[in-house]
Amino acid sequence: MNSTTETIGAAHFIGGEWMVGERTEQRFNPAQPAELVSLAPDADESVMSLAIEQAQAAQAAWAAMPAQGRGEILAAAGRVLAGRAPEVATLLAREEGKTLAEAEGEVDRAVRMLTFYAAQGWQALGATLPSSDDRTHLYTTREPVGTVGVITPWNFPLAIPVWKAGPALVAGNTIVLKPSSFVPATTQALLECFIEAGIPRGVLNVVHGSGSRAGQALVDDPRVAAVSFTGSTAVGRGINLAAAARMARVQLEMGGKNAVVVLPDADAERAADICVRGAFGLTGQACTATSRVIVTRADEHRMLNALAARAAAIVTGDPLDPRTSMGPVVTDQQLSTDLGYIERALTDGADVVTGGTASGRFLEPTILRNVDPDSALARQEVFGPVLSVLVADSPDDALHLLNDTEYGLSAGIVTDDLSAAMNFAGRADAGVIKINRQTTGTDVNAPFGGNRSSSNGLFREQGFTATDFFTRVKTVYLGY
Ligand code: NAD
Repeated sequence: MNSTTETIGAAHFIGGEWMVGERTEQRFNPAQPAELVSLAPDADESVMSLAIEQAQAAQAAWAAMPAQGRGEILAAAGRVLAGRAPEVATLLAREEGKTLAEAEGEVDRAVRMLTFYAAQGWQALGATLPSSDDRTHLYTTREPVGTVGVITPWNFPLAIPVWKAGPALVAGNTIVLKPSSFVPATTQALLECFIEAGIPRGVLNVVHGSGSRAGQALVDDPRVAAVSFTGSTAVGRGINLAAAARMARVQLEMGGKNAVVVLPDADAERAADICVRGAFGLTGQACTATSRVIVTRADEHRMLNALAARAAAIVTGDPLDPRTSMGPVVTDQQLSTDLGYIERALTDGADVVTGGTASGRFLEPTILRNVDPDSALARQEVFGPVLSVLVADSPDDALHLLNDTEYGLSAGIVTDDLSAAMNFAGRADAGVIKINRQTTGTDVNAPFGGNRSSSNGLFREQGFTATDFFTRVKTVYLGY
């Protein structure tokens, strides 16, 4: 066995103990369908209940620890992960299907986030206010909310758990993490880093299982004070209702239908590079992926040529092959979703500019034109390497098209016209605006989240706003 073929047996981690259970769930390498990458148990409600009990039991002692001490454990987990980077990146590429370079980038990002959240243990938490009363010291502080449920998708199996667990833990909460069942081995590698860093028993619990059983049990449990979810909008809506019914705090970051507007002054090569990297990086399987490019009518041919040439340079193949620049689609089900969108768009009158067919789990980077702005392809999240080119009559019309879906996550513009760019930044209805930058990718110190159906919009994730969701403000009047 070596690290590029071995099968990892994942286990639940509850109250500081591994709980193996029967490993009924199998995950095969999306690029090598015969290669079994991981096996995992499938928790029922009683396993989830035990994890919540252990998280609750550990919370008071964890919150009583100085915040710097909690931060030091995060920093140590980051150092362990950095030391294991090549091995963890290889495992991530095998299990999820992103290229090795993309997986290395994700490991690096997770390490940087752990370092960033560790430092938050040193930051001011409240304010001192003038009181209207005599001899009264009035101040606010922030307290942890308690035990938090963290539910994550498969496409960033390190980064997303870390950008939720980091701020939750440093603020003094304990966690039950229910990761996607497509990535148990990568989750386990991350968990091992926390264990080696000395995370106390019960503070970080991991339960593998289905969303409908283990995930739902986590959402419904009254002992869970808050639920932080990233995933599809359809699942998020259900979680929102369930959490609201029991008045739990809920954070939902969901799908996108991100677009880039290319104005006629933009250099075609630069614009194509920004759009193609945003569309086909991570096989288009990113919530912030560019799935629409909007050009003015007179500019369509120039941009189609530039986009097609840039897409033709993409090499699709095994993620571990250093020549590969785009990996496989994550599952057969996702592949048939992608192909279904393409087929339906063609029936609706669209034309393929490049790509459009799959071999095994590998879908060619696909660009379509003449896409009806009212079609499913133009309006719904595909979550694959499929890019629509839409035509607008004017920059204003382009902005209208950009805003005309139910989503509002990341929006881009390519132009050197400063006033056009600033007008766009103000009027694009999205949580993240990218001017002359690809729609994917964010800095660890910057807030991240969407508008409308991309988010419930109450709390931004990541960056300096990340701890807001995981803390409550308390106001203290101290008379003396
Ligand atoms: P998904 O919604 O199918 O699953 C996400 C998680 O929810 C998984 O762990 C799943 O097991 C769990 N789940 C499913 N049903 C549940 C239920 N009833 N109760 C509780 N948990 C449940 O999403 P996915 O396919 O894993 O991920 C892809 C989606 O995630 C895309 O829509 C993508 O846009 C979105 N995403 C969003 C962001 C963001 O930050 N906005 C980031 C990455 C991915």
